[in-house]
Amino acid sequence: MSVPILAIHGGCGVPPKGTLSGEQERHAREGLKDALRAGWAVLEEGGQALDAVEAAVVALEEHTAFNAGRGAVFNADGKHEMDAAIMDGRDLRAGAVAGICRIRNPIRAARAVMERTDHVLLIGHGVEALAARAGLELVAPDWFSTEDRRASLLQMKALQARGDSSQASERLKHGTVGAVAIDRAGHLAAATSTGGYTNKLPGRVGDTPLVGAGTYANDATLAYSGTGRGEIFIRTVLGHELHARMAYKGESLAAACEDMVFGALKRLGGGAGLIAVGRDGTVALPFNTAGMFRGVASPGEGWVSIYDERETLSLV
Ligand code: ASP
Repeated sequence: MSVPILAIHGGCGVPPKGTLSGEQERHAREGLKDALRAGWAVLEEGGQALDAVEAAVVALEEHTAFNAGRGAVFNADGKHEMDAAIMDGRDLRAGAVAGICRIRNPIRAARAVMERTDHVLLIGHGVEALAARAGLELVAPDWFSTEDRRASLLQMKALQARGDSSQASERLKHGTVGAVAIDRAGHLAAATSTGGYTNKLPGRVGDTPLVGAGTYANDATLAYSGTGRGEIFIRTVLGHELHARMAYKGESLAAACEDMVFGALKRLGGGAGLIAVGRDGTVALPFNTAGMFRGVASPGEGWVSIYDERETLSLV
């Protein structure tokens, strides 16, 4: 028997403290709280980590404050192309999708790949056919669009035209949502979903749907979901790197996560953050950006945070 724990994130694409409007901050906090409650309701009833992370990520995808599902960023062509993955630490089963533009909840499509096919990663129109068979809701591509993200695309294009893309704020550029959990039976699971990077090239796939890079779960060590410059997570195979350090070097969850986020990832030049829960129930939520939308739920307590503060909440 383990103590159930759920951790969530809404991305490390967060602007410096004091620059989000009061309304933007409140909106994001509400989204985090809704997602935490949705995932926690599953764990509290004795449900599986896999169902809890899916429920939390669906709630985050539905919320426009975060770059996943509704509220996803636009690529350079003014379109949405979303990626998602889910992984079950019990048996390393995983499902992932990339380049999604019409499935309302990409994480549900990732789970359908895991449970209804012999494959791990599906892209493009193949996913839509599977989603239709699985009874998932399809929506018009502009259902995901928000004015806020459209404005970000215009700003990114203006900065690019001036050769000034490096000046773009983290929030302008990116974000992701994710959840990790351990359930009462001691099983681990992870789920991640994203719109990727504002103004990305059409067809670009990030770390999120690459098992072992942006998403990873293994009952032997940890469940992990990453956020930040996807290319460096791919190059460092971050999720599997964390697993390997814990499994073969005996590192603690905290040591492995912090060393990568403040060491290798920073050196490679990327804003990065992650959430992870270990098989022993420890949690790590390091980030090297100004903030990270995040929250944790455990028996009797829950909290959400954007910067260094903590707002506690009732989980019922
Ligand atoms: N990792 C995501 C990507 O590169 C973006 C993010 O997490 O902010 O697609």
